[in-house]
Amino acid sequence: MEREDRSVNPREDGQRKDDSKGKLSTPRLTPARQKQRAPQQQAVEVSRAEEGPVSVSPKLSNWIKLNSKDLKIRQTDRSWAAEVVNDFRDNLLKFLRSNSDQPLFRKAEFLTTGSYFEKVKIHSPDEFDMMLKLQAPSRLDMKELDGGLFYRIDFSRPTRSQSPIQAFLLENERTLSSSKILNEMYRLVRKFLKTYKVPDKRCYWEVNRKRPNTPAVTLSLLRTEGNSDELISVDVVPALEVHPCQGWPLAARNGPAVDNWLGKKVRQEIKSLPCYFVPKRIKGRNLSEDAKESWRISFSHVEKKIITSHGNTKTCCESNATKCCRKQCLMLLKSLIEGLKQRYPKELHDLCSYHGKTAFLHTLSIRFSDSMWDRQKLPACFMHLLRALENHACQGDLPHFFVPNCNLFSPAAFPRKALDFLVKALEEQRMEGLPLLKPATPVPPLRLINTPSEDASTEMSTYNPSTGAVYSVALMKKLAVVFAIASALVIFLCK
Ligand SMILES: [Zn+2]
Repeated sequence: MEREDRSVNPREDGQRKDDSKGKLSTPRLTPARQKQRAPQQQAVEVSRAEEGPVSVSPKLSNWIKLNSKDLKIRQTDRSWAAEVVNDFRDNLLKFLRSNSDQPLFRKAEFLTTGSYFEKVKIHSPDEFDMMLKLQAPSRLDMKELDGGLFYRIDFSRPTRSQSPIQAFLLENERTLSSSKILNEMYRLVRKFLKTYKVPDKRCYWEVNRKRPNTPAVTLSLLRTEGNSDELISVDVVPALEVHPCQGWPLAARNGPAVDNWLGKKVRQEIKSLPCYFVPKRIKGRNLSEDAKESWRISFSHVEKKIITSHGNTKTCCESNATKCCRKQCLMLLKSLIEGLKQRYPKELHDLCSYHGKTAFLHTLSIRFSDSMWDRQKLPACFMHLLRALENHACQGDLPHFFVPNCNLFSPAAFPRKALDFLVKALEEQRMEGLPLLKPATPVPPLRLINTPSEDASTEMSTYNPSTGAVYSVALMKKLAVVFAIASALVIFLCK
C-alpha cells in the first residue's frame, strides 16, 4: 500500500537539504489572493484546462523526456536495498509464525503492495512498504464513520472465548480495536529486533517513534558507526483481510469506474478480490469512542493490479511496439509532487502522492484508449495529467477512486488554504516549465555498502547521505596526494 494511503503527513525529515534546485527561491504564492477569485473565473480556468490537445513547447517536451529517463535510471539502483529489506521481511515473518505469545499473528502473510513493487517508486529506492495480512476470523459488520473511508469494525457474532482475536476486542466484546492491533504489531517488531541481525553488520534497524494517525510501524536502517542518517525506511502495516465472500462495503460496492478502460469483466474480477482495513485513526479532535478505534479501507492491492495491467487492450506494453507512457506519466507526477512538497513543506503538508495517483486513475478511466498514451506522446500526456490534477484542485473535488463519495480535496481532508496554494503552485510549475520536476539531490547508491568480510581486498566505500555521494577510500587517498602535490606547487610558484 502507499505510504500516503496511511498517513497524509510527509516524512518530517523529507525536507530538501539542498535548496538550490527550485528556481522559485521565494514563494510567490499568495493563497489569500487566490481565495478571492470569483467563481466564474474559476469555471473558465477549469474549462480551459479541459480543452483538447495540450500544446507543449519543444523545450518543455525535452525537459519532460529527460526527467523521465532519469527516473528510469534511478529505479535500477535498488538491489542492495531490496536485499536488505527482503532479509528483514523473511525473518520477521518466520519470527511471527513461530511466536508462541501471539497466535493471531502466526498465520500472517505479507502482501507485496506499495509503489516499490509497482515499480513507480521515485527519487530513491529507500522507502519500502509491507502490508502484513491478518485474516478476520468471522463475518464483520463494517460501520461507516465518514462516508466510506473510515470504519468501525465489529464481529457479527460473538467470537469463541479461545479465539486469538479476543485479546483485541473492546469491552463490548464485539468491536475490533485498531489501537490494540497496532500496539501489538509494535511490540512484536521490537521483540523481533532483539535477536535479528542485519546481514550487513554495519547497519541496524531501529523502530521509529509512533506517529498519530499512522497505521504503520516505521523502522529505519541506520549505520552502527558514524552519522545517524537513515539509509532505508520500512513501514510495516497490519492489514485486516475481509473474506471475499462478504463483499466490499456499500460505499465501494459498485467497484471502480473502469468499464470503458479495462472492461466490465475486469471490474467484476476486481470486486471479487478481498478488501483490507488498516488500523488508522480518523483525523480530528474530540473523537468519539468509535472513531478512536477506526480502521481505514485500503485498495492498494487493487491499485497495484490495475497499474500493472493498465491497457485498454491486453497487449499494451507487452512488446516494444505496444509500449505506452502511462507509468512514466505517473512517475513524473509523483516526482513533481515530491518536488513541490520538498519546496513548500509547510504549505503543502497535506499533499501526498496518493492525490497524484488518484488523479492518474481517474485520467486513465477517461482517456482509456492505449493509442492516446503512445510512448511518443509522453510530454503531452504528462501535461494532460498535470492539468487533470490542477483541475481537481481548482474545483476542490478529487473523489477517491474506489469510494467516490469521499472527496480527498474536501475542506475536512485538505484545508482550503492549502488547496488554494496547491492550485497556484501547480499553475506556476506549468507556466515556468516544471522546474521542480528535477530532484535536488542525487540518489544514494546504497549498494556500495559492501560487507567487509566478503573479500579482504574489497575497497571500502563511504557514503555521504547529505550529498548522496559515495567515495572510495582508495580514490580519496589518491585525491589527497594529488591535492597535496598541487598545493605544494601553488605555494612554490607563489614564492
Ligand atoms: Zn502500456
